[in-house]
Amino acid sequence: MIPEPMRDSTATMRAVVFEKFGGPPSLREVGVPACPADGVVVRVGATGVCRSDWHGWQGHDDGITLPHVPGHELAGTVAQLGPGVSGWRVGDVVTVPFVCACGACPACLAGEQQVCEHQTQPGFSRAGSFAEYVALDHADVNLVRLPAGMSPVTAAALGCRFATAYRAVTVHARPSAGRWVAVHGCGGVGLSAVMIAVAGGARVVAVDVSAPAREAAVALGAELALDPGACGGGSPDDVGASIRAATGGGAHASIDALGIGATALASVLGLRRRGRHVQVGLLLGAQARPPLPMDRVVGWELELYGSHGMAARAYPAMLARIASGDLRPDLLVGTVITLDEAPGALIALGGPSSSAGMTIIVP
Ligand SMILES: [Zn+2]
Ligand SMILES: [Zn+2]
Repeated sequence: MIPEPMRDSTATMRAVVFEKFGGPPSLREVGVPACPADGVVVRVGATGVCRSDWHGWQGHDDGITLPHVPGHELAGTVAQLGPGVSGWRVGDVVTVPFVCACGACPACLAGEQQVCEHQTQPGFSRAGSFAEYVALDHADVNLVRLPAGMSPVTAAALGCRFATAYRAVTVHARPSAGRWVAVHGCGGVGLSAVMIAVAGGARVVAVDVSAPAREAAVALGAELALDPGACGGGSPDDVGASIRAATGGGAHASIDALGIGATALASVLGLRRRGRHVQVGLLLGAQARPPLPMDRVVGWELELYGSHGMAARAYPAMLARIASGDLRPDLLVGTVITLDEAPGALIALGGPSSSAGMTIIVP
C-alpha cells in the first residue's frame, strides 16, 4: 500500500467524536493526530467495536478528556514514523495491544508491559481508532507485525478481546484435557475464551443471558451453555450451584468475561475446591468493587487472578497458533460496518446483544 502524505499538519480525516459523556457520538472531519516522537500514525484498516468503548462513552473511565474519539482494537498500515522509531517502516501492516506500554518502568522491564505504570490507551487516554488515522505511542515497544495474509478485520479483534482472552486462558486458567473451564459472558472476549479453552483440551461450560451468544459458544465447542435466568432463582449462588452440579463439583477454572458484580460472584461460586477465578471483564463505575465470597475463597483455597490485555512480546505465540489454524479469530467476527454506522453501533452496545460475534468497522 502506498502511504498517504501526512506532512500537512492541517490534514483532516473522518472520525467518530463525542463532546460529552453519554451525548450523541457523530461522524465528522477532525485533524489527523500528530505523530509522537517515538510513535507512529497508523492508517486504520479495521477497528473493533468493544464494550469498553461504550463504558468510555458513558464516562466510566476516568482517563478520557473531551471531545473524544473512541476505538482501541485496531489493525492498519504505518503511515508516519516519529524520529525515535527504529524498528518499523512506513507501509508495515501492524496491530497493537490496547495497553501501549512505556517500555521503561519496572513492570515493563520485568516483561509485564500489560500492566505498565505509564501506559497509554488509544480510545481512552488519547484519541482512538474510530477514525481514518490513529497515533500510537512507543512504537518499538508496542507494535506487532501481522502475518502475511491475515486480514485487518481479523487482526482488529486481536488487540483487545482475543489477546485478552488468550492470556486469561493460557496464563491464568491453564486448561488441560478433561478439566472444566467456565466462561461467564459470551460476548467477544467470552467467545474468544471458549475457543481458546476448547483448543487447550478443556471441557467448557458457557454462561450468558443471550440465546444467540449461548448458541455461538456451543458452536465453538462449549459442552454446556447455561442461561443464568434458568438456574434456580437466577442468583449468583444459583448459577454457581448449577455449574458445580453440571461439572461434578465445580469448574477447575472460571473466567468472568463480562465484568459486573453478579458474574464475578457467580464465577467464584462455580469453582471446585482449589479452583481459579480469572477476572477479565473490566469492573467499572458502580460495579468496580463488588462483594466477593472470601469465606469460600479461604475455605476452598480458591485463587483469584486479574488479567489485563496482553503485551506485544507475547503475540508471536498466539499468531503462530492462528497461522496454523489451531485458533480461528476470524470465526468470531459477526458484522463488518462502515464508519458511518459506527455511532449507532456504539450506542447499541448499551442494550442486550441481538446477535453473536464481534462488530468490526472498516473506515
Ligand atoms: Zn476492547
Ligand atoms: Zn511501562
